[in-house]
Amino acid sequence: MARPPGTPRSRRRGRPISAEAVSPRREPGAPGGGFEVITAANPSPYTLAGTNTYLIGRSGEAVVIDPGPEDPAHVARVLNRAGASGRRVALILVSHGHSDHLGAADRLERETGAPLRRWGAGANPLRDGELLPADGGGVRVVYTPGHAQDHVVFYWIGPAVLFSGDLLLGTGTVQVTPPGGSMRDYLHSLERVATLTLTLIAPGHGPVIRDPRTRIEEYLARRRERERQILEALAAGPRSVADLADAIYAGLDPRLRGAAEGTVLAHLEKLVAEGRARRVGGNFAPA
Ligand SMILES: [Zn+2]
Repeated sequence: MARPPGTPRSRRRGRPISAEAVSPRREPGAPGGGFEVITAANPSPYTLAGTNTYLIGRSGEAVVIDPGPEDPAHVARVLNRAGASGRRVALILVSHGHSDHLGAADRLERETGAPLRRWGAGANPLRDGELLPADGGGVRVVYTPGHAQDHVVFYWIGPAVLFSGDLLLGTGTVQVTPPGGSMRDYLHSLERVATLTLTLIAPGHGPVIRDPRTRIEEYLARRRERERQILEALAAGPRSVADLADAIYAGLDPRLRGAAEGTVLAHLEKLVAEGRARRVGGNFAPA
């Protein structure tokens, strides 16, 4: 992935890094460092307690991150929360186009008149590395495909908070399944945000993550372990996706079979793209 100037780069590898992209760590109570979460009433195994809508900014203008599902009561709660402190909604940001994040966007846009910004759609699509105006030094857009091809995260620079959408969740793992999802892109996106200085991750679902570096490493380690298991299972000869899911997910709950096979296929597509596995008819084999 090409990185335009001013976007995060790895410090560990000694490459240059923009001073704007990664700001000094600040105390959690620093001006502009507070944010509010309003969780929508759409709980499920995939959305956990429901979609988190965030409000940031204290100086009369608020930025909404992820409007949430199409639910007028949820939009009313978001507007009440902003209005209670005398703020108007000045900007609406969306992490990706899945309905549990985007569904309320049109209604919120209509009711506030604020610009609605997302990746690859709308009048003014977001750009990678773009700095958006907000209290606390602004919010930088980081393109993070994988869960969905139009996925971005929002890095709030002063407080060093990452609004992670569905790149990282408060608990459990993220669904990465073809055709919309790409494991190769997803791991690259995780590696990319691992280079940011972070105090907190505010996820699209579930509670705030207070150990960002550890959590990102855990996410990467889990996917690398799955990949190792798949390569190990393939070594015995060509296998189908269903076979591999059985081999890797012992005692698989039938209700989770679709998700498990989708995840296996996502790993296989990554291995094929990297020249480490190949398709043999309907099966997969080592390269
Ligand atoms: Zn979601």
